[in-house]
Amino acid sequence: MAEKEEQTLVIIKPDGLKKSLTGNILTRLSETKLRIVGAKVVHVSRELAEKHYAHLKDKPFFPEVVKYLCGEPYGEEYQRVVALVYMGEGAIAKVRKLAGSTNPEEADSTSIRGQYGRITSSGLFENVVHCSANLPEAEHEIKLWFDPDEIVDDIYPTKEVEVKVKKKIWNKSE
Ligand code: ADP
Repeated sequence: MAEKEEQTLVIIKPDGLKKSLTGNILTRLSETKLRIVGAKVVHVSRELAEKHYAHLKDKPFFPEVVKYLCGEPYGEEYQRVVALVYMGEGAIAKVRKLAGSTNPEEADSTSIRGQYGRITSSGLFENVVHCSANLPEAEHEIKLWFDPDEIVDDIYPTKEVEVKVKKKIWNKSE
């Protein structure tokens, strides 16, 4: 029986951007033969980082990992991440396997984290990518980082509502 199509969130973290690894990471991810259904560059607010890492709030490294995702240690130019949604059969496990273990020293040396990650002098696992660990986490994270209209193939139910929003538009000077 064919495996079910899944979506998974991938984040190229600020250290990945600072080390100019975006192209390399996307090339490695293409080995999975999954398709990209959402992609954007995000300036990560403290609020978003705290929500993303809420499951770690009691860990001693929580404040540092929040700063890490916000890009604080890397200078203003790198206070951003690339957020992607990959889709396909077994997407979550395929990307986790390619990314490797959380601790880059323990990660398989051919995995993305094994190839490009390091442990900082303060002990933080600077592992260049995030990827969802399981189905509930993937759903939670995709809904946290993306709006439905930023993803080209829907798997989660959506509804249409009328809203009045303020948004930035191009200022045409003619
Ligand atoms: P993963 O990113 O593999 O899903 P976690 O959600 O447990 O793992 O951790 C989130 C991030 O926090 C990791 O990717 C890593 O950057 C950092 N981290 C996790 N555990 C540790 C640790 N024991 N020491 C330092 N940093 C850690």
